[in-house]
Amino acid sequence: MSSLLRFKMVDAAINHNAVDVRVPEGRPSDYFGAKVFGRAAMRKYLDKKTFEALSDTMVNGTPLTREVADSIAAGMRQWALEHGADHYTHWFQPLTGGTAEKHDAFAQPDGMGGVIEEFSGKLLAQQEPDASSFPNGGIRNTFEARGYSAWDPTSPAFIVDTTLCIPTVFIAYTGEALDYKVPLLRAISAVDKAASEVCRYFDRNVQKVYTYLGWEQEYFLVDESLWAVRPDLMLTGRTLMGHESAKNQQLEDHYFGAIPTRVIAFMRDLEYECLKLGIPVKTRHNEVAPNQFELAPVYEEANLANDHNQLLMTVMDKIARRHRFRVLLHEKPFKGINGSGKHNNWSLGTDTGVNLMGPGKSASENLQFITFLVNVISAVHKHNGLLKAAIMSATNAHRLGANEAPPAIISTFLGTQISAVLDKLAASKSDNDIRFDAKGVFKMSGISHIPTLFRDNTDRNRTSPFAFTGNRFEFRAVGSSDNCAEAIITLNTAVAAELTEFKAAVDAKIEAGIKKEKAIYEVLKAKIKACAAIRFDGNGYSEEWKAEAARRGLDCETSTPLIFDRYLDEQTIAMFDAMGVYSKVELEARTEVKWETYVKKIQIEGRVLGDLTMNHIVPTASNYEAMLLDKVYKMSQIAGLNPASDIALIKRIQDHTAAIQQLTYEMIEARKKANRIEEMRAKAIAYHDTVAVFFDEIRHHVDKLEEIVDDQLWPLPKYRELLFLR
Ligand code: ADP
Ligand code: MG
Repeated sequence: MSSLLRFKMVDAAINHNAVDVRVPEGRPSDYFGAKVFGRAAMRKYLDKKTFEALSDTMVNGTPLTREVADSIAAGMRQWALEHGADHYTHWFQPLTGGTAEKHDAFAQPDGMGGVIEEFSGKLLAQQEPDASSFPNGGIRNTFEARGYSAWDPTSPAFIVDTTLCIPTVFIAYTGEALDYKVPLLRAISAVDKAASEVCRYFDRNVQKVYTYLGWEQEYFLVDESLWAVRPDLMLTGRTLMGHESAKNQQLEDHYFGAIPTRVIAFMRDLEYECLKLGIPVKTRHNEVAPNQFELAPVYEEANLANDHNQLLMTVMDKIARRHRFRVLLHEKPFKGINGSGKHNNWSLGTDTGVNLMGPGKSASENLQFITFLVNVISAVHKHNGLLKAAIMSATNAHRLGANEAPPAIISTFLGTQISAVLDKLAASKSDNDIRFDAKGVFKMSGISHIPTLFRDNTDRNRTSPFAFTGNRFEFRAVGSSDNCAEAIITLNTAVAAELTEFKAAVDAKIEAGIKKEKAIYEVLKAKIKACAAIRFDGNGYSEEWKAEAARRGLDCETSTPLIFDRYLDEQTIAMFDAMGVYSKVELEARTEVKWETYVKKIQIEGRVLGDLTMNHIVPTASNYEAMLLDKVYKMSQIAGLNPASDIALIKRIQDHTAAIQQLTYEMIEARKKANRIEEMRAKAIAYHDTVAVFFDEIRHHVDKLEEIVDDQLWPLPKYRELLFLR
């Protein structure tokens, strides 16, 4: 790469105009779900008996018979062929964080020199992808090394380009989950079971409780030609060096600003694709940082919502290329400006249509709401360290704890009204302190009137990692590149365990002769007191909060490899086991994968950084230094000229290049040493403590050089060139 290339690419970026949007024919209601084998298509392509059997499976989880699977496959094949598909694939979510697919053609030799389009129930229901190289944490090193993928009928099949994609789970033959979908389905079912039972204290008709997820996807866009000349962006998804642009987000002129023309064209294309795929996209806007944007759909049942987010991340990447952009899903692509998260808006709702995370209209519904709210924050309190482990990664570590995103301490924000209700409830002396009036308004002595519980709670606290926002909780600590499942699995399991314990405590009191409502109050009261430490409505970015959180006994660990230890705590293992979400073997395997992934990410960053400093930065600085030396030498030939300032500059360049060379050498040595460690946890710790520590130090010197070396020589596009799309 040369600086000439940089200028060529900057020029290309400037001349990239908006791609013509393939303006969709008709309205969203015409093409929504056009590429999905959803209910409408099923009704059309399946006979009545098959349709009813499949509906039963989708709603109640009834296993499919081979015969029904064959009929579904025939209908699905017909639909797919008519919609231009020529291949099919099981689409699954391995622990790489992305999605995996292996395409097979429908066309099969018919044995008579021709081909026929084939797709049986067997191929639909189950396959054996050669999956030996997916991360598995050692599970598949046992004698039974095979794994298989099996259809998840609760998430409909869809067509991408010309491939029919069938959402599947991915499991080892020994039964362990090798993906995100299996534990997610288990955790959704755990909450369903525990929450339904608690709901029946309030309404006997409740049969099922759904988990809802509404994600908000933040992302950056950069011009493709500039991306192509930044090896760090290409290989690690973030800039490992780059001096801050003189102007970035200080003026707060990007947030909710007019969306650049090129970007709007991309967004419209993306939305069109999403709608055809049944992803109910709704909101788009500029985010805080330059070149940062957000897309959010309407919330859906969590398993489907998560499939949609996984699909979105792939589709985004593809559409972006058409517009000569690259999407950056990394949590912190640029230093000094905001990073990207993926808020997970989470709630539970009954099959009778009640949102358990929203205040209701009647006294009973409000008590039910408070019951669920308290159980959620109590679960978050008990497992705050684990929830942090669920969202932590090498990439998200850059974002958490920095002054822009949730701190690396999990706490809950409830707002003044709910806080007051809980405090009163905890402090109440007798039943008479708390009652509901005829209109169902929550009343407590001492508080003359609590507004019909906060329907429009606009009390927002942007610094909280887990905030109540009126009718849902918003888990904001989730990283932009994450599979949301990890956060939802952990949250759901913790909440299911808490509700199970709650039910047992209330039942024990009822059996002892205490009236149901009073029993619920008593257990809630004790819980509110016990989990007080998790509630924090103040500024999560402040230094005081860190000290306060430590005093409260909240998990304040900041080292990513050590944060993962929470997965293997005794109480964690017991909880996941009791809720039927993870066995101990699965937890151990998955934690192993987390450490391994951490090591690999830091290893790659270390290598790219080493390449860049030694192949790009030091040679460039040396060239400039040589020019200056030449100048100084020539100046010395002419009497009366003073080369002092040039000599000072040469010395500065010398100091920085020498430091870079020395630090890069030391970093490589540290990496070699870490590589010799066999045990994955120890290796990850070594990478964290002895390798990653060099990154910022090296970067400091590189960024200083960027400030003083001739702009014409600098090989990498600068922040000011990367960050201001028009
Ligand atoms: P904000 O940025 O103010 O949080 P957005 O409109 O960007 O709001 O995103 C809010 C997300 O929360 C959307 O995906 C929305 O569908 C989702 N949401 C709203 N109500 C619920 C709920 N009860 N349960 C889960 N998600 C919800
Ligand atoms: Mg939000």
